[in-house]
Amino acid sequence: MAPPPRVLWIYPSLFLHAFLLLFHALSPCRALRNYPENEVTLLDSMSALADLGWEAYPNEGWEEISVMDERNTPMRTYQVCNVMEANQNNWLRTRHISREGAQRVYIEIKFTLRDCNSLPGVPGTCKETFNMYYYESNNANLWFIKESQYVKIDTIAADESFTQVDVGDRVMKLNTEVRDISNLSKKGFYLAFQDLGACIALVSVRVFYKKCPLTVLNLAQFPDTITGGDTALVEVHGVCVNASEEFEPPKMYCSADGGWLVPIGRCVCKPGFEENKDICQRESACRPGTYKASATDAYCTKCPPHSSSPQEQAVECICEKGYYRADTDPRSMACTRPPSAPENPITTVNETCVTLEWSPPRDTGGRGDITYSLHCRKCSGDGRKCAPCGSSIHFVPRQFGLASATVLVTDLQPDSNYSFTIESQNGVSDLSPTPRGSVVINVTTSQTVSVVLKERRSKDSVTLAWQGPERPNGVIVEYEVIYYEKNQREQNYTVLKTRSNMMTVDGLKPGTTYVFRVRARTDGGYGSYGGEIELETSHEGKRMTNKYFCALLFRHCGYIKAKQDPDEEKMQFQHGRVKLPGSRTYIHPHTYEDPNQAVRDFAKEIDASNIRIERVIGAGEFGEVCSGRLRVQGKREIYVAIKSLKAGYSDTQRRDFLSEASIMGQFDHPNIIRLEGVVTKCKPVMIITEFMENGSLDTFLKKHDGQFTVIQLVGMLRGIASGMKYLSDMSYVHRDLAARNILVNSNLVCKVSDFGLSRVLEDDPEAAYTTRGGKIPIRWTAPEAIAYRKFTSASDVWSYGIVMWEVISYGERPYWEMSNQDVIKAIDEGYRLPAPMDCPVVLHQLMPKFGQIVTILDKLIRNPASLRELANSSAEDAPTPDFSVSTVDEWLEAIKMGQYKENFSSAGYVSLDSVLYISVRYRQLASHPC
Ligand code: AMP
Repeated sequence: MAPPPRVLWIYPSLFLHAFLLLFHALSPCRALRNYPENEVTLLDSMSALADLGWEAYPNEGWEEISVMDERNTPMRTYQVCNVMEANQNNWLRTRHISREGAQRVYIEIKFTLRDCNSLPGVPGTCKETFNMYYYESNNANLWFIKESQYVKIDTIAADESFTQVDVGDRVMKLNTEVRDISNLSKKGFYLAFQDLGACIALVSVRVFYKKCPLTVLNLAQFPDTITGGDTALVEVHGVCVNASEEFEPPKMYCSADGGWLVPIGRCVCKPGFEENKDICQRESACRPGTYKASATDAYCTKCPPHSSSPQEQAVECICEKGYYRADTDPRSMACTRPPSAPENPITTVNETCVTLEWSPPRDTGGRGDITYSLHCRKCSGDGRKCAPCGSSIHFVPRQFGLASATVLVTDLQPDSNYSFTIESQNGVSDLSPTPRGSVVINVTTSQTVSVVLKERRSKDSVTLAWQGPERPNGVIVEYEVIYYEKNQREQNYTVLKTRSNMMTVDGLKPGTTYVFRVRARTDGGYGSYGGEIELETSHEGKRMTNKYFCALLFRHCGYIKAKQDPDEEKMQFQHGRVKLPGSRTYIHPHTYEDPNQAVRDFAKEIDASNIRIERVIGAGEFGEVCSGRLRVQGKREIYVAIKSLKAGYSDTQRRDFLSEASIMGQFDHPNIIRLEGVVTKCKPVMIITEFMENGSLDTFLKKHDGQFTVIQLVGMLRGIASGMKYLSDMSYVHRDLAARNILVNSNLVCKVSDFGLSRVLEDDPEAAYTTRGGKIPIRWTAPEAIAYRKFTSASDVWSYGIVMWEVISYGERPYWEMSNQDVIKAIDEGYRLPAPMDCPVVLHQLMPKFGQIVTILDKLIRNPASLRELANSSAEDAPTPDFSVSTVDEWLEAIKMGQYKENFSSAGYVSLDSVLYISVRYRQLASHPC
């Protein structure tokens, strides 16, 4: 048994007051013996009820002093205060402290330290610090440890020292210091305090380690875990709490300071158990309106839309009437219903094929798995009796279970009526007793132009007439006449188009049998060709030989000319291989006595109820320009531009407004704005054209300055030139070609627009009055047009040059801010717009040089057929060359080239046959001085 400790009054002078005050300072700690839950105490001097039994040597050094706290509980402290003597080396060593597996332990000491200066008469050897050491050992009963074996933890100094014992009302401060030692490996260690001559009272020593305390997270329990040494994290695997199972292996990391980090994985309550505050309980019954379908669902959930659960403990909800759940639908998915019928079916007939398209049902039933099926029935002429089509027709890609809203039906019979039922279905259609949503569309393939009557025949022409299909499946847009020399279909055939029911095909070879076929095109598509009609042109007399010569000379020409009744003259479209002279000319609406007739002839009347106006996109001379949609029976809706004639117009204004439609309606070219039709039967009067998403070219270019490649820009220019070529071929002079009058669609296709009759005078803001009184867009107009009002395709070419400049300069204003007068003057003096920035030189030099003209003429000469079309007279009026000649001289006389007879004979052209080869030797001939 250890000797009883000496009591406090041995050194009353130094410590009495100190300890009295100390008790007050410590009492809260003693009452609060609960340390943080992540700290495990290995030693606590304050909780020792008996002797601490620490070793102190030498004897006159540290002393254990037992004091009473305010609750009369004895408290062990150690003190030393040999300040008056030099050479102090007093050691105090704890008992062996087991580390309990901890690699790092913390030592918290509470002490008071006397300020040397405050002690009267103490020598300079007085210290105000002490040292703390440890010694690791597996042996718990060491009685002696050499000083040199200890490892120093630190020198401890007081944050606060006290100066006097009898401080009266001054509070003496207790110092608390914490140090740690890590990477411990033996069973335990001894702590030691070395005093070298200070006045210390060691009030409390607590040794502890930190742990991550037991915890439950995501239904996994993680045990108390001792932290690693230094800063290492300890990986800990959790164990699923009762009645739970691993969903994903749970784990966490225990950090050095006793906190849990990075939770991964989780457990879930086993079926029949419901999670409640980190434990799994027997599930409480789901209330009505809720359900719990699976063990992995943590809670009862509300019934999904269109379902309910009237009873408790539901494992699923029941669908409302008319709603269903497919086998593969999860229980959490809303109940759904079959879709409504497909809508807006349209057909496009191409001979014996038909493309069916439709819009998806308005009501999908709440599902995304809509498919379509088709049923075909073939009907009698009056449509009363229908029977299934059988297996002879085919559906591409398939008849049933189509995912997209379109199908191609092939192998139909011509001249027949069909009725197609398009059904929509989805994943719950089979569960519903109600019939599937469907829409029916009837198709007639009976567009064969069945009767072809020959009207007239001559040696070089045939007039055909035919009756249209009996029951066309739409408005007849045009007829197509195809013909070829019998047995030569592969080599050469010609296709002509007309809106009339008759056509005269001339320019045929005499005494030759031709095969003709006719088919109709309605707005529903192409019909089948009618039967072949063979017709032979009549034979010729004596002059035939020479005519034949002509035919030989021009044998590659493929020349053919169609000339019809006056009506057809206006309507005919020529899509043959060779352009026919005068085959199609633009007709000025003013040549009509009744301008309304021109509108009727050239523009389709549209029912206003099929137009949906959506927004205003511009302002025209006669009223607003809007965009909107046009629905045509059985066709897809298309975007259109709608120009309307504002209220309060005069007759002249109405006529002028509609004249644009009469003009536009005559054109059919990808680079000319397409007329869809007009509304004249109700107000407002409207002109409907295709919609050009990017608006006018000048604004479009300014908006996208520098954003296009040269190829894109040249592509635009090519489109405009192609449209203008078409117009000039039609003998139409535009007069106001400018980037502002070109429209651009979403594919960057440029189309020429603005065909109003009065526009050059009134509509164009660029138009200015000239000295002759006319209003002209000066900057875009050729000098001869400004000076003499001589507007021709050539003056359109001038304007085209300005448009090129606008395009390459991204919408720059031609001649910039020069005044119109200055522009006229400058042009007159020979000034021309310089090449815009980044303009490819080839574009700037597009105007051909004489050298190029020679090359072009050479090419023309090598291909004499191209020279047949005469510039200054219609083909009708062109003088027919008299080929009733038998020698080269006669021929030269006949063509007014008698002065070249000698040249021809000296060059060896003595027979007419040799003249056939003239083209290839033309250069030699041309180089002869004449
Ligand atoms: P206009 O009366 O033809 O000069 O048209 C006035 C403005 O309406 C034009 O500058 C365009 O911005 C716009 N516009 C006219 N027609 C169309 C169309 N077919 N597509 C898109 N915008 C158009």
